[in-house]
Amino acid sequence: MKLTDYRSIVIKIGSSLLTDEKGNPRRAWLENLLLDVAELKKQKSKNGKPVEVVIVSSGAVALGRNALGFAHGALRLEEKQAAAACGQPRLMALYRELFEAHKIHAAQVLLTMEDSEDRRRYLNARTTLRTLLDAGVVPVINENDTVATEELRFGDNDRLAARVAQMVSAELLILLSDIDGLYTANPKTDKNAKHIPLVKSITPEIEAMGGAAISAVGSGGMVTKIAAAKMAFYSGCHTVIMEGSDGSPLKRLEKGGVHTLFQAQSSPMQARKHWIASGLRASGEVTVDSGAAKALKEGKSLLPAGVKEIKGQFGRGDAVSILDESGREIGRGLVAYAAEDARRIIGHKSAEIAAILGYEGRDALIHRDDMVVS
Ligand code: GLU
Repeated sequence: MKLTDYRSIVIKIGSSLLTDEKGNPRRAWLENLLLDVAELKKQKSKNGKPVEVVIVSSGAVALGRNALGFAHGALRLEEKQAAAACGQPRLMALYRELFEAHKIHAAQVLLTMEDSEDRRRYLNARTTLRTLLDAGVVPVINENDTVATEELRFGDNDRLAARVAQMVSAELLILLSDIDGLYTANPKTDKNAKHIPLVKSITPEIEAMGGAAISAVGSGGMVTKIAAAKMAFYSGCHTVIMEGSDGSPLKRLEKGGVHTLFQAQSSPMQARKHWIASGLRASGEVTVDSGAAKALKEGKSLLPAGVKEIKGQFGRGDAVSILDESGREIGRGLVAYAAEDARRIIGHKSAEIAAILGYEGRDALIHRDDMVVS
């Protein structure tokens, strides 16, 4: 597998790799891994830009419980949250120090399930992550354990990593843990268990294999890894599950080391467009003039200048249907402005938006990446 074939890669690092049995950080291991990340970031991907890397890192609870002297065994939720509060700055200090040796900035991003479910928060987080990546930064993401309530926790960073992969339209998600991939049965107890190198469709049989292996330190077992791979799969993102303890898992992956690849059958863009076209209820209508209708067919974004009328109530990021002057639906898209603001800027040039609204918004009312034209 050639990692430069992928424009953006999310790497999830499990607690069992980052900390030893006593909860001390495995510094040398992380140093090695981040060296590989730094080298990868220097290389160009297929679009001619450097490969983008996002890290989703566990380890806050493990580092914190060690520091606080919490006994071994299961922690109560509030103890976990306290441990995370204490461990997260330690975790981040390590990333910061080790990345700075390569002149790379690491940025801490803590997310909760709610942040990824609420559209507006999702869009905000997405835009922030995009801005960090454009600036060459490596976002280091964890769940905001201290505030996430039990019902609204990811609880495992496998699914959080998949959600992050969706947010940044990543093309590859690498789940590094103490498990080297998917097996037909539990390899620790069943001698006949066979490793599965490639999964092209996530069938009920594949999902049933989830019970096969459980990690000792992290929260996620194979069940959450398959759930993560499934989320990524339907967002057009490939997932690799591999064992990462030797310190150079990325190099090993490039050389064909043991792993399971869940191969997505579409690109992130196709998956996103499919979702826009089929899954969403339109909360408004945007009627465009003939010039804009033609531009949209040629793959351009919809600018406020080409819009004649807006109907309905919608917020930023909601789906709207795009109509031509005769009222025929010619497309669908996610709108970059709430209805009230959109009404004020239609018919105007994009350069006038800031003066009309009092803030600097997007040039397009609907960006071409957020639009499907029929
Ligand atoms: N957020 C947790 C931590 O940083 C890890 C959850 C997991 O094990 O996946 O310790």
